[in-house]
Amino acid sequence: MFFKRDEALVFSWRLSEPSEPKKSSLTPILRREPIGALLLDFLSTNFEEKESFEEFIKFWGFTGFVSNSITAEDIKDREYTEKEYHCILEIVRQEICEYVKSVQAVYEKTFYYCFDLDGPTWTAGLTSLQRYYIAVLSQKREGYKGFIEPRMLFGELNMMYYPESTNQQLDDYIKREAVNAPLEDIAKIVKTNDIGLTEMVTSDNIAAICYVEFKKMLEINSRLRKCANCNKYFIVTGRIDTKYCKRTDEHGRTCQEIGPIKKFYNKQNKDPLMELYRKTYKTLWTRTIASKKTGRRIDKSVLDDWRNKATLKMTEVKEGKISIKEFKEWLEKSREGLTNGIR
Ligand SMILES: [Zn+2]
Repeated sequence: MFFKRDEALVFSWRLSEPSEPKKSSLTPILRREPIGALLLDFLSTNFEEKESFEEFIKFWGFTGFVSNSITAEDIKDREYTEKEYHCILEIVRQEICEYVKSVQAVYEKTFYYCFDLDGPTWTAGLTSLQRYYIAVLSQKREGYKGFIEPRMLFGELNMMYYPESTNQQLDDYIKREAVNAPLEDIAKIVKTNDIGLTEMVTSDNIAAICYVEFKKMLEINSRLRKCANCNKYFIVTGRIDTKYCKRTDEHGRTCQEIGPIKKFYNKQNKDPLMELYRKTYKTLWTRTIASKKTGRRIDKSVLDDWRNKATLKMTEVKEGKISIKEFKEWLEKSREGLTNGIR
């Protein structure tokens, strides 16, 4: 995994599917994603489910999941069938499942304390690093059961750093000329350009990779929120009040597209009793106003009386004394009675 400014380059291997034309049973993958994307995906993966796990490693690779019985070396240059493919992944999944679940639990809390825009009240206006500082302090409190320090639970981690230009012009020049150019000439160009430090992290342990990404998220002051539709964390970029993520459902629609519609629909249907009541009340209430033109009206006190009765009826439905159907019939009957009574 490489880190370049606010991007992460993840280099990994995945087990090629038997149907793919291949030279080796391991397919290299390279992903360029915003910092935090891997950790977020890791957190929203259900490792108890075969499909969810397979989807994760198809995208992010196998490298972080080398298990006790199956290593990359074992499966390299091996032929296997469709059945064996799923079997290999299933063995790995079962071996790492409990472990990754414990890592997930740690990060779930870490996200809440350090990055969640809807986190504890005291986090308002603080950077993620300031929040982390307080969260670590809070652990020392007696009987405290909140934040858990995300440690690299085990696994080896190697780090390297490369100086790299952050300027395309300089890159082009180096590519074109640098091999033979005098160092004095290169120095003149470098002098007016920024040089960045690219970090390279290698590990075959997913928790170690998560740990490094967590540190990077602190550095860039990541802001997260749980999506109001799918309840999974997402990176908040741009508008701070964004409530929905861009994950897609099976029809390719994002939470951002369907979330607000769903919410509206849910609100409307939250209480079917209230909905029925409101409809009738609205009709009756218009009749108290219509009176001014027609002279025919429902008296306000009659309407109040009806409202009390309707409320009692709703309670009866909730207590199971009458059915919704009976309530509906009562509403219709009483509405007709009231409106006819004034004619
Ligand atoms: Zn979502």
